[in-house]
Amino acid sequence: MENLLLGNVIESGNISPFSCPFCGYNGSLDLMGADRFPVLRTLQVIGAGRRAARCPKCKSSDKERLVYIYLKEVEKIEKTKGLSMLHIAPESNLQIWLQSISDKYIAGDAFLQNQKFIGKVQFVDIRQTEFCNNQFDYIICNHVICDIKEDKTALMEILRILKTGGKAILQVPITKISKTVEYPNVYTKEEREVVYGYGYHERIYNDKEYVKLLTSVGFVVDVYNISARYNKNGLNPLEDLYICKKK
Ligand SMILES: [Zn+2]
Repeated sequence: MENLLLGNVIESGNISPFSCPFCGYNGSLDLMGADRFPVLRTLQVIGAGRRAARCPKCKSSDKERLVYIYLKEVEKIEKTKGLSMLHIAPESNLQIWLQSISDKYIAGDAFLQNQKFIGKVQFVDIRQTEFCNNQFDYIICNHVICDIKEDKTALMEILRILKTGGKAILQVPITKISKTVEYPNVYTKEEREVVYGYGYHERIYNDKEYVKLLTSVGFVVDVYNISARYNKNGLNPLEDLYICKKK
């Protein structure tokens, strides 16, 4: 019975033992995410909903570990002079690591009040920033684009400030069984919770429509899934990576 509790990702039945790539914790994962909004189940939304995904020691989530594992193990980025990174809505464990390898790391958020950040975070509205064209090697927006009404404006801005050859990691919650869900007349947190399953989301993207959107802005998009290769690290087996390159 004990093994069934180790790293048990409820939404997919992954029962590999969990080992945290950030803090080294070995054991079972804590539950996280809302379970009271039926839309998350009805649309089988990936990257949202109730699941065993929180490290009890460092509090990292499956979404945070996915970006970390990708950058560290797949991209194999290391401490490099001049490496410039922009990290929007920074997750703590990721921020600590990125700060340690990048001497041009900037963490930004459009909502600085009532949030606890571990390091320095400056005001950044990703729809319109003061950064230069071609400034960043990497831009990380982990489940941020889904919160922005003017998503295309934000994506065009990300493309503008990304270096040619640079990469943006632009994760969002995804449904693969429905078209993109977006209601023009939904305004309040309570209304959003009912139709999107989260009070700050502006839509739920269909996977293929999301790639079309990213491509229409000018990104070259690679979609891949690394969760099976790193199945001990508590990744969501269903969450694909959307790696967006600027040619
Ligand atoms: Zn941990």
